[in-house]
Amino acid sequence: MHFYTLIWLILLQLLATNLSAQTTIVNASKGRSCATDLYQDALEQLQPGIKLEQQQAKEAAQLYLSQRKKAGKEMRQAGPITIPVVFHVLYNTADQNISDEQIFSQLAVLNADFRRTNADRINTPSHFAAIAGDAGIEFCLASTDPNGNLTNGITRTQTTTRSFSVTSNNIKRQDKGGVTGWDRDQYLNIWVGNIDDDILGWATFPGVNSSAQNDGVVLHYQTVGTAPFNKANWQYNKGRTATHEIGHWLGLQHIWGNGNASCSDSDDIDDTPNQYDANYSCPDGAMVSCGNGPTGDMWQNYMDYTDDDCMNMFTNGQIAYMQSILSTSRSKLLVSVACNGGLRADFEAETNTLIQAKEAIQFKDKSVGVKPTTRLWEFEGGVPATSTEINPKVTYKKPGKYKVTLTIGNSQTSSTETKTQYIEVTPNELTIYPVPAADYLMIEQPANVELRKVEVLDRVGRVWLTQEVFNRTAELKTKGLPAGVYVLRITGSKGVETRKITIVR
Ligand SMILES: [Zn+2]
Repeated sequence: MHFYTLIWLILLQLLATNLSAQTTIVNASKGRSCATDLYQDALEQLQPGIKLEQQQAKEAAQLYLSQRKKAGKEMRQAGPITIPVVFHVLYNTADQNISDEQIFSQLAVLNADFRRTNADRINTPSHFAAIAGDAGIEFCLASTDPNGNLTNGITRTQTTTRSFSVTSNNIKRQDKGGVTGWDRDQYLNIWVGNIDDDILGWATFPGVNSSAQNDGVVLHYQTVGTAPFNKANWQYNKGRTATHEIGHWLGLQHIWGNGNASCSDSDDIDDTPNQYDANYSCPDGAMVSCGNGPTGDMWQNYMDYTDDDCMNMFTNGQIAYMQSILSTSRSKLLVSVACNGGLRADFEAETNTLIQAKEAIQFKDKSVGVKPTTRLWEFEGGVPATSTEINPKVTYKKPGKYKVTLTIGNSQTSSTETKTQYIEVTPNELTIYPVPAADYLMIEQPANVELRKVEVLDRVGRVWLTQEVFNRTAELKTKGLPAGVYVLRITGSKGVETRKITIVR
């Protein structure tokens, strides 16, 4: 065999082995690639209005910060905040089904980075170390799932999808080869899978209220955790992709600003230097741009694009902002019971809380945390007055405003939720009072019926009073009417009705 033919055969063999193994690594030569900005554009396309919601969340956080500052208060919560996390592992091949240990190593990185106990904090140059801080944020693996069952905080789902794209949201859809996220008010959802287009990960910014099901972080499985559990031999095997993406999830922009390469945009954080564009790999010394010399860009920041090895800090300004997000749009996470084995009672009416007398209303237990062993509903004015069912149906006989209470518990603990004047029961027919009337007349339609126009006519059909109303109830001033018997003509959303009324003086 000719020497060169042999070489070609060996090369072809190597290529074939590589293809069949399907362990092709993300193209690392291009540098870090986070798709958070691309993803927000895709979300906005799918659901216009998302960016406005994000802007509102940002304004709420900034307002919170400025108010705290004015009041001379601490810019953060006292003591560390713990965020319950669930990892949803989607795997097509066995190596994508990353180990528990790999996930534990990721959690350790997050807890170090967000508390600034990371060993490589000593690499922060002194001129930046002065403004680098402990974010006071910790992460725990969820111990209770949304159904109240015990969990290790990791779900594993085999998928026929070979890789997921940024723009499809398929990784978050049960019917599209992905898996549905858990309640974002209780958990930070982190989806892990094989991602298209050399992308390491992406996140949703705070304020995605109209697409809560998408809320969370997506990570390429080869970026999760640290070696040796992370088996990818590359510059993203120290778990910093998750740190970066959770930074976005807590509202942080890329450190060079939110748009393209420019000195005129900003990340809206005061203590980060103005920076022209992303830095890649691991720069050697100061990278000066936008007149930020001599210290230059803060390429050591988790929100730049440098390698895992080279990023080691958040600034105090970034920390104050993340904390303010946790006090505003993501504040429900502060009282999550997903990690502590606790429970919290909550409920809602499945239909409108404004009903007619004798109408049934369905209640729904929305409690969170571990499954309760006892449950007691109390319905003021309702039939039944109490119930131990999960989702009881209740009727109310008389008009009024009624309190509902739900108490759940187990041998360890209990929790009560009370909503006063929660259910408003109206008469089930047109009601007019007082009888007889003098200076005023109250007109009330049953729930879900609206008034349009109210007229008072005398016996010969002359109109004395007329009032346009767009409400269920109306108050008519009858002070100017002489005593006598009149006809009240009521036009409502269900047609015209007439009633005889008596005015006394
Ligand atoms: Zn990013």
